[in-house]
Order: sequence, then structure tokens, then C-alpha cells
Amino acid sequence: MTEALHIVCPHCHTTNRVQSADLSKAPDCGQCHRPLFMGAPLELDAQSFERHVGRSHIPVLVDFWAPWCGPCRQMAPAFAQAARELEPQVRLAKLDTEAHPALGARHAIRSIPTMVLFRQGREVARVSGALGAADIVRWVRSVAA
Ligand code: ZN
Repeated sequence: MTEALHIVCPHCHTTNRVQSADLSKAPDCGQCHRPLFMGAPLELDAQSFERHVGRSHIPVLVDFWAPWCGPCRQMAPAFAQAARELEPQVRLAKLDTEAHPALGARHAIRSIPTMVLFRQGREVARVSGALGAADIVRWVRSVAA
């Protein structure tokens, strides 16, 4: 069985319709023709945050971080590794709370790094504190199922 999923392009942020059976076949964006999955986290701003979190049919894991936060910077390679393992079932993205404080406030981010998993625009789970790649993957799989 297959269904059409809305997948938001990480480059031009156009919403694409992709058959679920084709997710793992490295689909390209119909608008900009670049890969819909990069095996790497996507850097969000206020506008692209709304697009990805609000329109994606796959879960979106957002790492709320800031450049001044040492543990956040230390976790960055683990988060990138987790993106390679979790895509295309989950979209991984980063939101700089220093550049976009309103979004951090709206989502009640009290400490960073905090990872929030969204499904269909709604928060499903969150975890605060830096995790290794294996722990990120295990946590996401346990809460996204
Ligand atoms: Zn695109």
C-alpha cells in the first residue's frame, strides 16, 4: 500500500507530493529539481519553520540550539549523523534560537539544546540536553512510532 505524502523541499521549501513507496528512492523536488533529502539537517528560519513543521507529512525533529551554546555545538555532528540514519522517515532540522528568539519562546524552550519532535504541526515529544547519535535515533524511533 502506498500513499501520497507531502514532503517540503529543504532548498526552495516547496511542498512536494511523494508516494510513500518512493521515499527511499532519493526523490527530487519538482520545483528546483534538487534532492528532497540531503542526509543532513536543514537550517530553518521563521518562515521555513512554519512550512516544514506545518506541512510535512513525515515527522520533523527540530534541534533548538544557539551558536554560544557549547553542548549544542558539540552535539552538531551527532545530530548530523542521526539525520543520515533517520531520513527519509523523519526530517531533521535546526533552529537557531539566538537568531529567532520568538520561535524559541513560542515553543517554551527553556534550555538548549532541546530537541522537539513534531508530527503534522503538533509537538509529540521533546528532550533537553545533548545526546549522542545512537541515543537520538533510538529516542526518535521510540516516540515517532
Ligand atoms: Zn525545491
